[in-house]
Amino acid sequence: MLELRPNCELCDRDLPPHSDEARICSYECTYCAECVDTVLRNVCPTCGGGFAPRPMRPLKAWRPELNLGLANHPASTKRRHSKFTSDEIESHVSQIEHLAPKDR
Ligand SMILES: [Zn+2]
Ligand SMILES: [Zn+2]
Repeated sequence: MLELRPNCELCDRDLPPHSDEARICSYECTYCAECVDTVLRNVCPTCGGGFAPRPMRPLKAWRPELNLGLANHPASTKRRHSKFTSDEIESHVSQIEHLAPKDR
């Protein structure tokens, strides 16, 4: 199950489960759209992959027998922060950004 992380791992802004600003890489690293567009330029600082909008988990268990939805599987409350410095991120991004995600 996808871990719905509560914040941008770079600028620390809140990204609640129904934020339309949340972006994730395939490893669930989570950033806001502004950081992805301006600083990261669609390069995950950790894995080097691209980003996609984070899907919104429904509030409600639409199939009660399956116990899904946010009420049953709430968002994480553990705030995460990238361990890389701005310089490390810039050098990583500038090395990879010219490649489309499918070619990385
Ligand atoms: Zn951000
Ligand atoms: Zn990643």
